[in-house]
Amino acid sequence: MARELPIFPLPVVLFPGATQPLHIFEPRYRELLADCLAADQRFGITYVAPPDGPGIDPMPPPGAVGCIALITATEALPDGRSDIITVGERRFTLLEWVTRETTYRVARVEEFDDEPADPAEVTNLAGGVRQDYQRLARAIGTLTDRAADDAALDDDPEHLSLPADRAGVVNLTAALAGLVGERHVRAAPAERLAYAMDGLPTHRRLPRLAVLPGTRDEVVAVVRLLADLGVPFVPRGAGTGLSGGALADHDAVLLVLTRLNRILKIDVANRSAVVEPGVVNARLSAATAPHGLHYAPDPSSQTACTLGGNVAENAGGPHCLKYGVTTSHILALEVVRADGRVVTLGSAGGEPWGPDLVSLFVGSEGNFGVATRITVRLVPLPRAVRTLLADFTSLRAAGEAVSAIIGAGLVPAALEMMDRSCIQAVEDSVYAAGYPRDAAAVLLVELDGRNESAVDEEARQVAALLTGQGARQVRQAADAKERERLWQGRKKAFGAMGRLSRDLVVQDAVVPRSSLPVVLETIAAIAARYDLVVSNVFHAGDGNLHPNISFDARDAAMAARVEHASAEIMATCIAAGGTITGEHGVGLDKLRYMPLVFDGDALGAMHAVRRVFDPEERVNPGKVIPVHACREWSGTRNVELGTRNIAVGSSAFPLPRSAFGPEAR
Ligand SMILES: Cc1cc2nc3c(=O)[nH]c(=O)nc-3n(C[C@H](O)[C@H](O)[C@H](O)COP(=O)(O)OP(=O)(O)OC[C@H]3O[C@@H](n4cnc5c(N)ncnc54)[C@H](O)[C@@H]3O)c2cc1C
Repeated sequence: MARELPIFPLPVVLFPGATQPLHIFEPRYRELLADCLAADQRFGITYVAPPDGPGIDPMPPPGAVGCIALITATEALPDGRSDIITVGERRFTLLEWVTRETTYRVARVEEFDDEPADPAEVTNLAGGVRQDYQRLARAIGTLTDRAADDAALDDDPEHLSLPADRAGVVNLTAALAGLVGERHVRAAPAERLAYAMDGLPTHRRLPRLAVLPGTRDEVVAVVRLLADLGVPFVPRGAGTGLSGGALADHDAVLLVLTRLNRILKIDVANRSAVVEPGVVNARLSAATAPHGLHYAPDPSSQTACTLGGNVAENAGGPHCLKYGVTTSHILALEVVRADGRVVTLGSAGGEPWGPDLVSLFVGSEGNFGVATRITVRLVPLPRAVRTLLADFTSLRAAGEAVSAIIGAGLVPAALEMMDRSCIQAVEDSVYAAGYPRDAAAVLLVELDGRNESAVDEEARQVAALLTGQGARQVRQAADAKERERLWQGRKKAFGAMGRLSRDLVVQDAVVPRSSLPVVLETIAAIAARYDLVVSNVFHAGDGNLHPNISFDARDAAMAARVEHASAEIMATCIAAGGTITGEHGVGLDKLRYMPLVFDGDALGAMHAVRRVFDPEERVNPGKVIPVHACREWSGTRNVELGTRNIAVGSSAFPLPRSAFGPEAR
């Protein structure tokens, strides 16, 4: 028979016979409690998913199933809040919401009894519950430093459900707070929202919670606890990544490493340093400069990004043309594996021994574990530096000049290109560097070395080549101040492009240098066809393109055009003999392109390597390898569909696939 019932929507499922303690503090639920205590002591609990943001008040839809909660104990607290104990009675179906003059919600519900369960199925399910409970017992053992005692578990499924029910209320937040301190666990929706994106605005995920350990030992303790509970987690540095790599799903914990920010050692004699992963890139070079040394990889984000993130992404930067990307500068790593074991890869001395596991880890995008200590190579600061700015009236000529310089056997420290749209954004911003506004493109070329006259000679040769390739003007920075200004425009170009539109997708691909002119023209044609503003600022010497698409994500039609244009740009780069990422990684964003450059066997091999480090695939799950495209995935049973999986070969992979999926804003 249908009846009216006050409803308390909660992110818990109340079972008949199970106990549910509640802390009542919201005014509307205080009113609900008072009314229930004055009546038959009963209200309904229906499950709702936790809200995705502040101010969102989720409501279970008609048809949802809930359970009547009988209040069995109440403790009124002095300030009007209450602690209560409830016990589940009968289940009900929510028929419809009704309007009453109460601040809480009331619904018409129909009670029903559960179907008797199949004993075989119950025994089967009890096995799973027992396993989960034992994991929890181990986790509590980790927390309390006591051996886990699971001998007390009852074999009877009904009795077993009691400890399992208690397990359900063990609070992960509290457990983590016990390890790192309450203020270093971010569980409130508004706090978690701060971690919902990285530098790429097209992907958005709200983590289950964020935990910020302050020491290596705290990282180990947190990772062990998560391992015992079987909870997936995602390492995160500064969140400047541009492929969605540092985002965690609602079931995963974000392990934020920014508090591990100590430079542990600077070894001048051996030109190395040992740092924690949260050290900001530029801070390390600032600290070593008084010793005449620096850490060479210099991502344009270097004033914000962390060394841990650089290692995970194998980050590059303007000066990596001459000095090499991150992998050339990491000597050793201390890594916390997914099960909490700590391993050391490589050696501080830098001598090679055994397989090069350091290089394997660098660029693994958080899939192999957490880097907690990083030993880096330091290189001497150059004594002589010359910086040239050349401007061109055509993109093609600028592209050809790049090939001419490298083809002549010259290796500048940096060789960067910016096109007109980017130049104008920079010149309109506070980072204005004095670039000629009417140029189709500028090249910023830096030469450095220990010998002034040798560097002067190289600068002269480069200037002659640039002029020969049609540069309108080649200007050399007169002093350190002018050089800094020219570089500021380049390094802050992404920020300056924030002026062009509300959202910006920074793309990343590599093409052979000799293809730059034609690829740049094709990108311009794609932009025109989709009626989009695409600006280019990139590491031209490496052929590492960054087409930046300005758009407004609130405009669905425009967002769809961005998606198609991005896919066509990637396809163009692949067709030119290039690949889908130079330095920003695959993360979430490039997953869909992986089968275009790797076949099922290659992806399967990558997957197998990942499983060596993390057999349960709990660190940064769902990133980098599109598992559905691995050959090994083919033929396995699809549990959801009850069919066999079929691997998606590169030619059949649907392109484009949504980057603006359900998680997009
Ligand atoms: C304006 C701008 C300019 C940029 N310029 C460049 C550039 O020139 N060159 C370049 O290469 N990139 C560039 N980037 C991209 C980005 O800065 C780099 O990828 C950087 O290495 C990310 O560091 P992070 O600390 O922000 O890492 P996050 O974004 O927090 O994380 C990136 C990845 O690293 C993993 N991770 C983080 N810390 C650890 C750890 N300790 N152990 C294991 N995994 C970890 C995460 O799980 C994630 O997969 C730029 C970004 C922006 C916004």
